[in-house]
Amino acid sequence: MSYDDKNVFAKILRGEIPCNKVYEDDHALAFHDINPQAPVHVLVIPKGAYVSMADFTANAPEDLMVGFFRAVGLVADQLDLVEPGYRIMANHGPDSHQEVPHLHIHIFGGKRLGPMLMRNWDGGE
Ligand code: AMP
Repeated sequence: MSYDDKNVFAKILRGEIPCNKVYEDDHALAFHDINPQAPVHVLVIPKGAYVSMADFTANAPEDLMVGFFRAVGLVADQLDLVEPGYRIMANHGPDSHQEVPHLHIHIFGGKRLGPMLMRNWDGGE
């Protein structure tokens, strides 16, 4: 899938639409999710045009990769989630229900998060 620079996170990176920012450095931007699924729900995005984790890990330069993943850890620490614990998640493609085609890592926390995935999967399709 080629990168569509009209996606909402590309617009946030260009400053065309606002975000509720929690962290920014040369490699990453983190902001609160507009539709939070937990008491803390923050998105971390790389500063580069990457559709998903597959695109990023195949094509991003190493300094961006290191900086981006370091930022995820820094943001979790800044949000005081290290001691109580948190979950990170990144969707890739249709089966995951990825909505925004710019790589983003979700950070969830602030409560007991329960099982990792829906428990009603029966082993079939
Ligand atoms: P995903 O399904 O993994 O692609 O997640 C996309 C996430 O982006 C969802 O949790 C949305 O609530 C969130 N989102 C969409 N638009 C915005 C926005 N303008 N600011 C913050 N979060 C957004």
